[in-house]
Amino acid sequence: MYTEIVAAIQSTKTAIDLVKSANGLSNYSELLTAVTTVQIKLTDAIASELASQEKQAALTERVRELEKQLAEIEGWNTQIQRYSLFQFPTGALAYGLKQGRENEEPMHYLCVSCVDKKQKSTLQPHGRFLKCTVCKIDITTQSAQALNLNRNGGWMSR
Ligand SMILES: [Zn+2]
Repeated sequence: MYTEIVAAIQSTKTAIDLVKSANGLSNYSELLTAVTTVQIKLTDAIASELASQEKQAALTERVRELEKQLAEIEGWNTQIQRYSLFQFPTGALAYGLKQGRENEEPMHYLCVSCVDKKQKSTLQPHGRFLKCTVCKIDITTQSAQALNLNRNGGWMSR
């Protein structure tokens, strides 16, 4: 952009010099050529300036998008650091809230598949399962026998 403006200014100087040295109409065609050159160079400079402004606006927008993405990633990392992978007696896995990181929230688990997709889905209890309402999967947290044991207070005592 600056190159074009400098070139336009130099052409203007040439045109002014021609006017100064003009002793009649003999230099008219040279002068006209010089003025036309100045006009073309100024037009180029303006076009270049406009393109530069567009480029700058696009870059500013890109920076804003990246800052937003970065803030989202940082926010996600902060949230997910409160959880650790937990294995239920059935072998099923879920992310459980770490001790001391509750922030006044009740104990809960997050769906592993959803966390892998950077989605926070709190598993809802559903009998001996924990259900993910996002990916519609059931995580078996207790074996059927353990559930009977808990419900009836004794081993298969129903
Ligand atoms: Zn899920």
